[in-house]
Amino acid sequence: MACAEDTGVSKVPSMSGATVESPVLDLAGDPVALLQTLIDIESVSGDEQRIADAVETALRCCGHLEVIRDGNVVVARTHLDRAERVVIAGHLDTVPIADNVPHRTRNEGEDLEIWGRGACDMKGGVAVQLVCAATLTQPRRDVTWIFYDNEEVAAELNGLGRIGRERPELLDGGFAVLCEPTNGEIEGGCQGTMRLVCELAGVAAHSARAWMGHNAIHDAGALLQLLADHEPAQVDVDGLTYREGLNAVAISGGIAGNVIPDRCRVEINYRFAPDKSAAEAAAYVRGVLPGFELEVTDVATGARPGLDQPAAAEFLTAVGAGASAKFGWTDVARFAEMGIPAVNFGPGNPSKAHADDEFCPAAEVYRCRDALLAWLR
Ligand SMILES: [Zn+2]
Repeated sequence: MACAEDTGVSKVPSMSGATVESPVLDLAGDPVALLQTLIDIESVSGDEQRIADAVETALRCCGHLEVIRDGNVVVARTHLDRAERVVIAGHLDTVPIADNVPHRTRNEGEDLEIWGRGACDMKGGVAVQLVCAATLTQPRRDVTWIFYDNEEVAAELNGLGRIGRERPELLDGGFAVLCEPTNGEIEGGCQGTMRLVCELAGVAAHSARAWMGHNAIHDAGALLQLLADHEPAQVDVDGLTYREGLNAVAISGGIAGNVIPDRCRVEINYRFAPDKSAAEAAAYVRGVLPGFELEVTDVATGARPGLDQPAAAEFLTAVGAGASAKFGWTDVARFAEMGIPAVNFGPGNPSKAHADDEFCPAAEVYRCRDALLAWLR
């Protein structure tokens, strides 16, 4: 494939065989300028071909990288026989445009901000990845750079998940970083989530002769009191503190205004620290609610931050920022399922992700680039 030409546009064969124009990405230059170019390539989920073409073309110009294209996933990796391999991943897609493409800029110098769809989630991180991938010709750890599609839509379409299922060897590594926005701080792991149902059984009777029945809704009172009195644990995992949560999230029961209810159903959600397996999480809830029959209806385990690993410890030092626990469920859990500890680390304020006025401070792009370079150089 053609490398960057003076025209600013390169012709690359598309997957359908037709030649499409894709903008040239300058990986040797300023990551903030690159971020602006990336925003201007619309890439709403399901429509990532142009940006994937541009990323692939640019990376193929880096002689030190093996580049693999699979659908709209681009993988680039070094083969330096280092003792360790790390994976650094980011998604190319965005939520739908809201009159925020092309990009705009605000302020200047140190306060420069880049505004536009994907600025925060997560083309700032992708720009950092691309510049580092091109710059680090001799990284001290082997690196697998992954750029994937369909993160912002249904989980079964997720490009990272697809590669994990179909070509897991491409995700091999001892530690992974997802360049999602975190204000340039390290957010480690993620919590697990479990749904449980308690079906309380009573005996129906006419409410005029309540003593002949048994009220299932009243039985729920003891269950709800245990939940209300329960102090959720704060659990230290690999140096980060995870705040758990155990809550009733739905309740139903009762048939009519004159009938003692013979059933009551309570739904419970447990957000648990990533040191627990699904079985341990279920056992914990049963321990809090003795005597109640609980059925687990859904579970997704969390992901350990893995900050006790040498690669991660050095990453913390290089970033020079504190690490905190991630409370939601993110793609780091996909790495955890494969036994690879993972953290989030990228420019941009996560609370601006998906906002119509999303933006990324230029200073954070430089800071994240410098941290990754310091870690891997
Ligand atoms: Zn994202």
